[in-house]
Amino acid sequence: MSIVSAAISPLRAVIIGAGPAGFYTADQLLNEGFEVDLLDALPTPFGLVRAGVAPDHPKIKSVTRIYDKTAAREGFRFFGGIRLGEHLSRQDLLRRYHAVVYATGTGAANRLGIPGEDRPGSVAATRFVAWYNGHPEAADDTFDLSMDRVVVVGNGNVAIDVARMLVLDSAEIDVTDTADHALDALRPSGVREVVVLGRRGPAQAAFTNPEVRELGELRRADIDVRLSELEGAEPEDTRAQRNLELLRGYAERPGTGASHTISLRFLRSPVEILGAGDDGPVTGVRVAVNRLDGGRPVPTGEVEEIPCGMVVRSIGYRGVPMDDVPFDERRGLIRNTGGRVCDDEERPHPGEYVAGWIKRGPSGVIGTNKKDAADTVARIRDDREAGRLATPEEADAEATAAFFDERAPHAVTWAGWQLIDAHERRIGEQLGRPRRKLVRLHELLETGRRVKP
Ligand code: NAP
Repeated sequence: MSIVSAAISPLRAVIIGAGPAGFYTADQLLNEGFEVDLLDALPTPFGLVRAGVAPDHPKIKSVTRIYDKTAAREGFRFFGGIRLGEHLSRQDLLRRYHAVVYATGTGAANRLGIPGEDRPGSVAATRFVAWYNGHPEAADDTFDLSMDRVVVVGNGNVAIDVARMLVLDSAEIDVTDTADHALDALRPSGVREVVVLGRRGPAQAAFTNPEVRELGELRRADIDVRLSELEGAEPEDTRAQRNLELLRGYAERPGTGASHTISLRFLRSPVEILGAGDDGPVTGVRVAVNRLDGGRPVPTGEVEEIPCGMVVRSIGYRGVPMDDVPFDERRGLIRNTGGRVCDDEERPHPGEYVAGWIKRGPSGVIGTNKKDAADTVARIRDDREAGRLATPEEADAEATAAFFDERAPHAVTWAGWQLIDAHERRIGEQLGRPRRKLVRLHELLETGRRVKP
């Protein structure tokens, strides 16, 4: 390739998934001189910042201002509403881009693998979170919240988010961007107690300190922790140490007589979700009481039953295989070595990369994905220098946009998203809320398509 043709044919990258990992990767690839197309299956960008972060955490959501700056850069384009495997194939991408980065996150819930897991009222946190956050795929879900006790399984921040959302009062929740259908169900909810179960001890909980501290600031809920379950806990780092201090504070704090309670129970593994017959709704959870052996939970033989009307399983996520992208079933991730997609003998696929949760698993906070993206982009830079990127036959920006328009004529560009954004903010503001989300795909597409690509 001559110097002249290199100058008029810039390197082109496509990123699949417009969540934090996708945006950090986009920004860094723009720094490297690539033109970047960012695609998302939804008409809206921001992935879990829009559909995962709890609505009562607006400060965390304000990270999107950084992504807005990326989107405003020369060389960036967004195409929302295009799904890999449905509208286009992996080969379609490799034909048009020098680098393809999968940043699709981990959309499926882990399973407990216990009897009763599929009873009505046993739900994956992924789905419940998607519902209250207005994800279009969960917009038609309904959750019966008439029971007085809900059990949340898992000791991660998602479990805390769910527990908190279930006990917020109207003054706390009405000022958020919680989806309207969820507000309508949460306001009259009968839930008075949320029991959060950890299979290991308080020192092993994956909670981060601000989330544990925030529990103590809820307006209408007391936090119930048993001192007996904190005894003998051996924190291994300052985060666990601080968690333990906060939990001890809750255990020692006298109850305020609040109408609601979040009970944190440790060393308890669900062994069966109870209900009538094989498929009657949830009536309780049978739990095995554990002790720790070298940090691992081991059943003591003691068993308890916790009556409840709903179980939310918040035990982590796994990726969903896409098209023919190599997938590691055991880890639930795209098969990769340090961010390069590879085959099962670790031979890299030229021009294919991963970033974010689908690369390393669902861990860390939003900012963790910045460093993660930098690691992947460093591999892309190395491969560019070594001549190991893909060799697309049709790496032309305009022709690619025309191809997308043919395959997904409904797709929404960045300008279209800005219309959706402005509309949601405007109708939200009238109600004293940051935004009122459009939750139906057709509404999003109609609003976003008022700007043609
Ligand atoms: P997580 O932090 O990995 O927690 C998963 C929990 O599930 C762990 O307590 C784990 O216990 C438990 N678990 C796994 N398998 C289990 C089983 N079979 N039975 C019982 N318990 C089981 O996952 P997450 O809560 O889904 O959060 C994902 C990531 O998002 C985390 O990095 C989290 O910090 C982040 N996040 C952050 C925020 C925030 O910053 N505010 C909010 C939400 C999420 P073991 O430890 O025993 O395996």
